[in-house]
Amino acid sequence: MGTLFRIVVHTEDPITARAAIAKACRRVAELDQKLSDYKADSELNQLCRAPYNQPRRVSAELFYVLEVARRVSSQSSGAFDITIGPLVELWRQARTARQLPPADTIAAARARTGFRYIKLNRARREVTLLREEMRLDLGGIAKGYAADQALAVLIAAGFPKSLVAASGDIRVGDAPPGRTAWRVSLNPFGNGATETVDLRNQAVSTSGASEQNVEIDGVRYSHILDPRSGLGLTGNHAVSVIAGQGILADAWATAFCVLGPKAAFKPSGLLLLFHTSR
Ligand code: ADP
Ligand code: MG
Repeated sequence: MGTLFRIVVHTEDPITARAAIAKACRRVAELDQKLSDYKADSELNQLCRAPYNQPRRVSAELFYVLEVARRVSSQSSGAFDITIGPLVELWRQARTARQLPPADTIAAARARTGFRYIKLNRARREVTLLREEMRLDLGGIAKGYAADQALAVLIAAGFPKSLVAASGDIRVGDAPPGRTAWRVSLNPFGNGATETVDLRNQAVSTSGASEQNVEIDGVRYSHILDPRSGLGLTGNHAVSVIAGQGILADAWATAFCVLGPKAAFKPSGLLLLFHTSR
């Protein structure tokens, strides 16, 4: 998933814990193989390459992530959109070329996006992509889900006092021994200016422009894109979202980066923290 996963387990049985941690890591690798947009043979990319307008049966995990993604997309009025793949491709080219794509290239890529063009049939666990040349990108949601799943493996193995961190996506179980919560430091701009939050059986995700961006003509464009303009965000804010599940914290942190602090809709059960640099 293009990042380092870190796992912390409190236990008096380190040997069994190591085996559980190895199992949690294998679970993450398994999900990467399904959800990655980088791996050419991932289940996700196979789905995108298959002929469009034809239902295709997918794994339970991929179907679940697509369902959650679609819900966040519609609740965020499209600020979060996993069909953004063609625009992400352009962003990656712009980063290499240090030049914005021409407007007509962006328009052509935008025509291949839109979460409404994903049709899901839960009874048959089938996905239909309704437009030609669609490219799905789970970069804004998969790490949170993987953190959930890695923690679930640890809990099932008898280690509930655990934490899984996939860079900005952190999922915790029961509090460490003698504590009431995990104290997590947030570092939204990567400059050490941290805030702390106390979490127990929760997740926190932080999204912003600091980690990855490209500067073109003095403007910094984030790797988080505004699906409406097709361009990277240029604001200097970051967002942390606390939720009961990593998959929701991750997706909503990305969504609220696009929506900004004035967002009209705030789903219940989420706690938002907006950060502004300088
Ligand atoms: P990070 O991956 O740095 O932790 P995010 O969770 O915010 O940060 O995910 C950013 C990634 O999500 C991008 O690299 C891209 O693959 C994808 N993405 C970019 N813009 C959007 C968007 N508006 N909606 C959904 N996914 C997006
Ligand atoms: Mg995210």
